[in-house]
Amino acid sequence: MTIIAALGVVLFCAPAYSVDRSGFQESSLSIENADASLTRAVREAAPRIKAALAKKAALSAGFGLSFDEDVPEATRRQMTNDLAFVEAISGSGASPLHQRIFGAVDGPSYLRFFSSRVRSVGMSAPAPAEMLAAVDPEKAPGQMLLNRSYVDSEMPEIQRVAIMFHEARHLENSRDHWAHAVCPGVLTDLDGHKWETNLAGKRGCDTTSIGGYGLSLVMLRNIERYCGNCSGKVILDAGLFADKISTRIADEAARQALRDDFSTFSR
Ligand SMILES: [Zn+2]
Repeated sequence: MTIIAALGVVLFCAPAYSVDRSGFQESSLSIENADASLTRAVREAAPRIKAALAKKAALSAGFGLSFDEDVPEATRRQMTNDLAFVEAISGSGASPLHQRIFGAVDGPSYLRFFSSRVRSVGMSAPAPAEMLAAVDPEKAPGQMLLNRSYVDSEMPEIQRVAIMFHEARHLENSRDHWAHAVCPGVLTDLDGHKWETNLAGKRGCDTTSIGGYGLSLVMLRNIERYCGNCSGKVILDAGLFADKISTRIADEAARQALRDDFSTFSR
């Protein structure tokens, strides 16, 4: 219910897409009275026009984000570039969980998810380099906090993106902002391989398949499987980070739900 309600808000609140949709409908109405060849030509061109309009609207709006004054230019540029990378993703299918969380494997679906949760960007207090991004939903609703390592680290782009989408989940008000659970003594990936970590007893795991870790895992696996215009490096990076994130799902029912979801890839 929460997800359905949230997606409803997205469609209502994202002017870039509602403007695009109404423009597309006007085109459809006008072609009703045209001759057959013109109708066909317009119909064939419509998806390209629609995509171009959506891209222009989203870019001109800066993805709807406002940046605090102390966010360095390089950080703003990298975040905008990362979201432009997301916006360009185009996929050929999506698993059931992906459809439930995001919709299709494509830029507009991902941006709807992101922009309905993240409205502003600030800088976090100094934090360990691996903590690229964070949120503080009680003090700053709708704000993503970036660490300096967001720009400084050599982290692959798809990994930065997955972390930002994970953090976006914490900006939701439900489930205590999708709070994490305590990790077990041994972390294993979905294939049962043990991973060395120092997370035992720390709140760094999830017991649901669709929390911060589950949704970024679903996103990465679907991009790995379905992205039609991602580079080989992005596909490889997505798979490697997905393996690592899968160790954070600490409940067997949630793990099985994810295995079942990914088993649809081979159908
Ligand atoms: Zn988290």
